[in-house]
Amino acid sequence: MTVSAAPLVVVSGPSGVGKSTVVSEALSRDPGIWLSVSATTRPPRTGEQDGREYFFVSDEGFDELVATEGLLEWAAFAGNRYGTPRGPVDERRAAGTPVLLEIEVQGARQVRERVPGALLVFLAPPSWEVLEARLTGRGTEDDAAVQRRLTAAREELAAADEFDVVLVNADVKECAQALLRLVADPTSARP
Ligand code: 5GP
Repeated sequence: MTVSAAPLVVVSGPSGVGKSTVVSEALSRDPGIWLSVSATTRPPRTGEQDGREYFFVSDEGFDELVATEGLLEWAAFAGNRYGTPRGPVDERRAAGTPVLLEIEVQGARQVRERVPGALLVFLAPPSWEVLEARLTGRGTEDDAAVQRRLTAAREELAAADEFDVVLVNADVKECAQALLRLVADPTSARP
């Protein structure tokens, strides 16, 4: 008998839309869901810890992960590379734990191709102005990095209709609740 793997749900959308906030709210309500920890070549921000927010790796380390097919998906984003380690995702799902990935749009597309049955959720801002204000006001990046993220955000917004579900992040708690419903029953989102 084949036991089907637990759900894999991808949360994507432009940088600054509030993916992390919605995902943390969802996880605090349902600790039975596992959030994948990505590898990145981006340097840690203040307060970030290796192995918690990300695995912070060198360019060579990332090359090695790509060469050994250790990543389920990966993408270059705003001057750095980010990828999802494959092994932990497969292990958790096989053990019956639903898995969330919080990744940008190019990576979401790769998951769509590689993982049949994955559910792709796009988190959209209530308006472009709200997103712009969040990206320029968060103070974690210098001006050039903010500009790269704004450019990427414009492109990412255009990808919304490639996703199974679009959630507008007007209210974090409502969005988290909607996400939890999708994780509990990914088939509910499909026609
Ligand atoms: P940040 O530098 O703000 O932490 O992340 C920048 C972007 O990279 C965000 O949109 C984030 O969701 C995305 N990201 C984080 N981890 C991964 C990953 O493993 N793969 C891909 N494709 N994108 C990721």
